[in-house]
Amino acid sequence: MPKSSDLLEWYDHNARTMPWRVGPQERQAGVTPDPYRIWMSEIMLQQTTVAAVKDYFERFTARWATVSDLAAAEDADVMAEWAGLGYYARARNLLKCARVVADELDGVFPGTVEELLKLPGVGPYTAGAVASIAFDHPATVVDGNVERVMARLFDVHTPLPAAKPELTDLAAALTPDVRPGDYAQAVMDLGATICTPRNPACGICPWRQPCRARLAGTAADLPKKTPKKPKPIRHGVAYIARRVDGAFLLERRPDSGLLGGMLGWPGSDWVEVDAPAHEAPIRAEWKTLNTEARHTFTHFHLRLKVCTALVPMDRKPSVGEFVDADTFDPGNLPTAMRKAFDLYSGA
Ligand code: SF4
Repeated sequence: MPKSSDLLEWYDHNARTMPWRVGPQERQAGVTPDPYRIWMSEIMLQQTTVAAVKDYFERFTARWATVSDLAAAEDADVMAEWAGLGYYARARNLLKCARVVADELDGVFPGTVEELLKLPGVGPYTAGAVASIAFDHPATVVDGNVERVMARLFDVHTPLPAAKPELTDLAAALTPDVRPGDYAQAVMDLGATICTPRNPACGICPWRQPCRARLAGTAADLPKKTPKKPKPIRHGVAYIARRVDGAFLLERRPDSGLLGGMLGWPGSDWVEVDAPAHEAPIRAEWKTLNTEARHTFTHFHLRLKVCTALVPMDRKPSVGEFVDADTFDPGNLPTAMRKAFDLYSGA
């Protein structure tokens, strides 16, 4: 049976450094993690990698050092700072949650899974991760890394996602009462650095002795996954109108739905037919670029036709509003919209 103490000993020497993490030596010296920073990192890490999140995390926490600072922020500033990180519902929930904690809980994050689950945008994984990492409670935390490690340690061949309950039970059974916060991070680190999807480094793994997949020679084939259906392709049209004074016509998308609350180019709906119905947001001589902007979301690939025009000062748009050239920052656009702008800029 794998021992948590073996993994913790490995973690003491091999923990990854992350801007939100309190390392094992600091923890042993009595430093406790800031629940605000742990919560923010976990929200940012949903569906995203550590490498992609680091800069965003540094910027957010430099600008809004406490949950009360974030709660008092303008929605548009937070959405703009989030631009490019994707899954924009997370940014809206981040704000909602900060406001609940600041206004209703005196700025203090709750420490139990049950209480954390009541906060906006906090699901079972995030609640478990915050309870465990920030408050050192023995919660079970199962991400993709942990699933892979468990499937291999116990040589589980049931494909994901059907295997999830079994892998969660196995992870729960291994979670110790001693240093549970360090342990949760240690399994994730093991999955990210040693027990990697391809070519696991079994020779230097602290769990190589008890690992059943290593003994059976099946590690590289695990975890098994049910094949995914291919993603559909959706088509859309984006209109980039520039006024003669350099201002761009932008529209804030509705709060609900994809890219909700973000600024973007006016355009058609995104649909699975090649020629979506669309109407220009302003009267102009529109030209269509030869290349489409392409972006992949979780559930579909997007092909965005880009129409561009130069419009006179006195023309009024039917949707959106002009943003002055010195205020417009393409970095504040969500990635799909920024790709359309990049095509326009290079055209
Ligand atoms: S021995 Fe290999 S397969 Fe098993 S947990 Fe360690 S790295 Fe993963």
